[in-house]
Amino acid sequence: MQVKVLGAAGEVGRSAFVVESEGSRVLLDYGVQMHREPLFPAHVRPKDLDALVLSHAHLDHVGGAPLLYLSAGPTCYGTPVTRYLTELLLHDFLHISGPVLPFDSDAVRNFSKSYSPVGYEEEVRIGGIKMLLYDAGHIPGSAITLLENGSSVAYTGDMNTSKTQLLDGAKLPSLDVDVIITESTYSYSDHPDRNEEEKRFVEAARSVVDNGGVFLVPSFAVGRAQEIACILYAHGFKGKVYMDGMALKTNQILLENGEYVRDVDYLSKALSRVEYVTEWGTRQRAVRDPSVIISPAGMLVGGASVFYNSHVAKDPRSAIAIVSFQVPGTPGARLLERHEVKLDGKRYSRVRADVQRFDFSSHLGKTELFNFFRHKVKGSPKVIVVHGEKEYSEGFAETLRKEIGLDASVPKVGEEIEV
Ligand SMILES: [Zn+2]
Repeated sequence: MQVKVLGAAGEVGRSAFVVESEGSRVLLDYGVQMHREPLFPAHVRPKDLDALVLSHAHLDHVGGAPLLYLSAGPTCYGTPVTRYLTELLLHDFLHISGPVLPFDSDAVRNFSKSYSPVGYEEEVRIGGIKMLLYDAGHIPGSAITLLENGSSVAYTGDMNTSKTQLLDGAKLPSLDVDVIITESTYSYSDHPDRNEEEKRFVEAARSVVDNGGVFLVPSFAVGRAQEIACILYAHGFKGKVYMDGMALKTNQILLENGEYVRDVDYLSKALSRVEYVTEWGTRQRAVRDPSVIISPAGMLVGGASVFYNSHVAKDPRSAIAIVSFQVPGTPGARLLERHEVKLDGKRYSRVRADVQRFDFSSHLGKTELFNFFRHKVKGSPKVIVVHGEKEYSEGFAETLRKEIGLDASVPKVGEEIEV
């Protein structure tokens, strides 16, 4: 068996790895890195592939997939809900970045036609390779992929072992494999206590709304927006809550695929407390109404949160709550660092609203990641550390080498690892 690294080497973004065994080739993810222009993984010829397997519906894992379907492409495997969420993301990606993308909606359509849904722990044969997906606990439908053909490879995708409001956390038997391709997004720090962070968030929302302000929560449409609605519901927030944008279509997909969330009735109850914003009249009303507004985009690139920002930013009674990682260089990162946003889409101005940060990560933190290797991993697999900033990935690989004696390293793009 051989693993070839096409992306996510010393960076968070554009995940893509080819696993080859006795003439069968499987591509694991084909993502995008969101810089000023989207960056894609190293090239791979679709006709050389027997299958594409998607770990989950985030653009840094699926954003490049249509490039494989400019004409007929390989069969794509992933959970059913990953298909619907990926289609939603890809159409939105085309809508926002269409002119600079090297594919169009025909490629997305070809991708959909090639998709073959697979449930968790359901065995699939790809040539000589046996493939299994396990629940990764990261977002609905997210999967850890296991490939076996004499030798074996496990790919974590993005993973969370802790329970959240929306998900139960990863469900994985002990791993006894030859190679593990592991994410390392937060291998440098631990997350705060989840319940305390949820309480702090709901208290902050209450205080802003009681003072007549708007508590704006820019959130990723897939997963995070629903998690925020559940947190408000779980901690008895009684004020007005609005939700806008692509998050609403995600809600529908998750309610129709209830087996991919922890408790679909609970999600349904939490969402029934939320007023959906589907037209401009409601949007105008929402910004004048003391309330919580949950709206994409998570890093303030596109989406209705741009409109909300320009209103909320001017009001000293209001607050903007940043609830996810902000990639350096995005408007969201600038808001956190300098308390500045673009008003009316033009120049940056200082915001008068409060800016607050909360950690509701859906990745395992430093200690959880280490404990995963200490307690769940059997034998002595080779470990390929990816999907992390270079220095943090290097640090984590060193920890695995010194503390557990594993052969761990951070690869380069194009590197081929023999098993
Ligand atoms: Zn992800």
